[in-house]
Amino acid sequence: MLPFSRVAIIGFGLIGSSVARAVRRAMPRVNLTGYDADADVRERGDTLGLFDDIADSAGAAVTDADLVILAVPVRASEAVARDIAADLPADCVVSDVGSVKAKVAEALAAHIDNSARIIPAHPVAGTENSGPDAGFADLFAGRWCILTPGADADPVAVERLSEFWRQLGSDVEIMDAAHHDIVLAVTSHLPHLIAYTIVGTASDVEEVTKSEVIKYSAGGFRDFTRIAASDPTMWRDVFLANRDAVLDVLQRFTEDLTALQRAIRWDDGDTLFKHFEVTRETRRRIIDAGQDTAAPDFGRVPPKESEVGED
Ligand code: NAP
Repeated sequence: MLPFSRVAIIGFGLIGSSVARAVRRAMPRVNLTGYDADADVRERGDTLGLFDDIADSAGAAVTDADLVILAVPVRASEAVARDIAADLPADCVVSDVGSVKAKVAEALAAHIDNSARIIPAHPVAGTENSGPDAGFADLFAGRWCILTPGADADPVAVERLSEFWRQLGSDVEIMDAAHHDIVLAVTSHLPHLIAYTIVGTASDVEEVTKSEVIKYSAGGFRDFTRIAASDPTMWRDVFLANRDAVLDVLQRFTEDLTALQRAIRWDDGDTLFKHFEVTRETRRRIIDAGQDTAAPDFGRVPPKESEVGED
């Protein structure tokens, strides 16, 4: 049974185009309409055959939808909500895929009447790439999708949207928006901020040349560079929209870092060892939960010497 039959996706970069591909595969009878603010992206979506229809405005994309999904950077959600409000059919469910939930829920509620049909969502799945060519149908398979319905949300709409994500391969969890934002500040936003910092720091250490940073990157740095290559617009919006939760966990992180700094300074091997034992156990639990593979070094092949860049 199809939970929705006419789905409109606003913004089809990595996530929007992945939703379109996954819907095509899992629910081929669903009519899909897309709109993206970028004319080149609209043209590419057409070439890739992602949609039945590509509209030339957000309002035109939603006129006969029964589900609308905003897949735009978090801070663009409000402008899209304003653009579509007058054209939304009365019983259409409105959702999104943003990485921050409380601010997006506020932005949607500011423009869309009948808040019972607003069901924000966040598929906890992604890559460091952007744009419609980066998307793929399997992106959500075996990954969590967190729904954050407000207190007055229609339970039938929540169940229909849960079923939609289950049919795309996700496991669905319902959570309060503020709690979502704290959890994701810890598991995603802080790690990205650390990666952005480390990659910047490594480039600024004067005694180490840029070619050495690249050449010896398999020592740990390489994994941070993958995260630090993530989309600048998306991540600027995430940090600004989730400011309070990010600053909170950043404060905790700074205190913990200072404790490790002190242990190194005072030759306190016990503290370091105990800490690293606990963190190794966390890694084991992530693998046991099926959220990553235990394959050594993720099976990556190191770059050849000739591919290593110069200063
Ligand atoms: P993306 O690849 O950059 O795609 C976003 C698309 O939305 C772009 O084509 C962009 O066009 C378009 N857009 C921007 N403003 C718009 C507007 N007002 N109306 C219509 N289209 C607009 O970004 P993404 O990675 O798919 O991220 C989309 C959302 O998913 C974000 O809210 C993000 O937080 C969330 N998310 C991302 C990931 C991830 O790993 N990337 C994971 C989970 C959730 P322009 O290029 O012209 O701006």
